[in-house]
Amino acid sequence: MTPFSLTGRTALVTGANTGIGQAIAVALAQAGAEVIVAGRRDCDETLALMGSGRSLTLDFADPMAARDVFADQRIDILVNNAGIIRRDDAVDFSEADWDAVMDTNLKALFFTCQAFARAALPRGMGKIINIASLLSFQGGIRVPSYTASKHGVAGLTKLMANEWAVRGLNVNAIAPGYIETANTGALRADPDRNRAILERIPAGRWGRPEDIVQTAVFLAAPASDYINGAILNVDGGWLAR
Ligand code: NAP
Repeated sequence: MTPFSLTGRTALVTGANTGIGQAIAVALAQAGAEVIVAGRRDCDETLALMGSGRSLTLDFADPMAARDVFADQRIDILVNNAGIIRRDDAVDFSEADWDAVMDTNLKALFFTCQAFARAALPRGMGKIINIASLLSFQGGIRVPSYTASKHGVAGLTKLMANEWAVRGLNVNAIAPGYIETANTGALRADPDRNRAILERIPAGRWGRPEDIVQTAVFLAAPASDYINGAILNVDGGWLAR
């Protein structure tokens, strides 16, 4: 067993049918974890890539959807990855787009963490990994509810770490840079935005889900036991610039 091994651990990854969530699920499984893949649609492709594991239907249209998930099964690692983005000018932005993004990205994330913690705190161990964003630190453009939600994810990650670190629960986040997934399809399809983004990334390329995943393994593993309330940027240098 190395400090990076997840053998004997069970992990749950939300939004695991595609993109970053799918890649994290596969990497956790490769590191030895039993992985439960959760999605609002089937995660069969992810299960096939992992070669083993279980699946669960979780739709955060109900932000309390995960309230009963952790009570009757031991889950050691929670990855809150499910998230959505809605784009419109701030002057036109609708209440519906505000609520949809805040419910999925922030309210569901908090109450899923709370349900996990209620089961994990009595055991004195557990790992929560929240997927934050560059827009946990920056303002962005035309994405007001996304920016508000991801700033909230950063704040809640620190709050929960402050309350639960002493009880053996690590709460941390990953802030991915610009990653090639469905979430960023509109940006990559816009030649001007695509060029502007690429010119600003010190690494000179978009990230891929695979660029994120070993940071998730690290934050899930004993190697990170003394890391609490951190938000690790995996962004090709974007925030250093
Ligand atoms: P993605 O391919 O669009 O994946 C988003 C995942 O969230 C999908 O599995 C999606 O399910 C799921 N989801 C959305 N609404 C849900 C709901 N109501 N209930 C359950 N699952 C729901 O995008 P991604 O880039 O991999 O995004 C993953 C996370 O990374 C998000 O939190 C995103 O904000 C964050 N992030 C991405 C980037 C980037 O550059 N791509 C950068 C920073 C942060 P469906 O397939 O059913 O829609």
